[in-house]
Amino acid sequence: MSVQKIVLFYVFAPLADPEAVRLWQYTLAESCNLKGRVIISKDGINATLGGDIKDVKRYVKNTRSYEPFRTADIKWSDGLGDDFPRLSVKVRPELVTFTTPNEVHVDANGVVGGGERLKPAQLHELMDARGEDVVFFDGRNAMEAEIGRFRNAVIPNTDTTRDFIEEIESGKYDDLKDKPVVTYCTGGVRCEVLTVLMKNRGFQEVYQLDGGIVRYGEAYGNDGYWDGSLYVFDKRMHMEFGAGAESLGSCIECGERTPKFVNCVHPSCRSQFLRCEDCTAAGKHPECPECMEQSALANS
Ligand SMILES: [Zn+2]
Ligand SMILES: [Zn+2]
Repeated sequence: MSVQKIVLFYVFAPLADPEAVRLWQYTLAESCNLKGRVIISKDGINATLGGDIKDVKRYVKNTRSYEPFRTADIKWSDGLGDDFPRLSVKVRPELVTFTTPNEVHVDANGVVGGGERLKPAQLHELMDARGEDVVFFDGRNAMEAEIGRFRNAVIPNTDTTRDFIEEIESGKYDDLKDKPVVTYCTGGVRCEVLTVLMKNRGFQEVYQLDGGIVRYGEAYGNDGYWDGSLYVFDKRMHMEFGAGAESLGSCIECGERTPKFVNCVHPSCRSQFLRCEDCTAAGKHPECPECMEQSALANS
């Protein structure tokens, strides 16, 4: 039985020729039989790929042989096999689509002017010193936080990363502008940009969790400030940091606790929602709430 692995990494570094990097990355990943998603921009690379452990190692070694990607912090986790439907390698204006391609500047050391990076242990030092004041700020889509989040975190109302600008400019979070705010996301890439955008909009003391929830979970499991499951963008849909993780989300049908997101039955609908395995097996609640409402209107 082959061992399946998934890697997640990003590097912010100026790339003179993103299209050439795209071609090289596509050829490399394909020759290693990997599937998953790679985004290249003028500012670097953001990737999540899965395959057989030997192939993934070969891919990682080759990727690191390119000077700008030499220091890539590669996060490994166990895959199930066929974790991604296909291989996609694209050039985009931004590594993460905040719709602010000209606001963020990247040099050889990475993003310029982002929030101070806190390693998991440094986060605990900050919490020990100023825990009363520290506010966690979720840098992901609100849906991801339904099954896991940092304790008492602020969860912005975001369907996609595009929604962050409107959120942080809305005035809703102005009371956080003079507080220590720690942003976090899956592997750290979204916070690299988000912390710049927040600082530019008057948030005075912004930190970012270095290595994201993934590295924090590896360090502290379920014994720190993280509660629940981590949403992931592959077939697994969620992962836990050891046994005994608290379950925060509940089934849309029966209310049982579950970390299982499922797709709406309509192929044209991209919505995902929580439904427990029993209700899924019983064929209950096939549609997302929005489609259900539409169907009800159509039938009335
Ligand atoms: Zn259920
Ligand atoms: Zn739907």
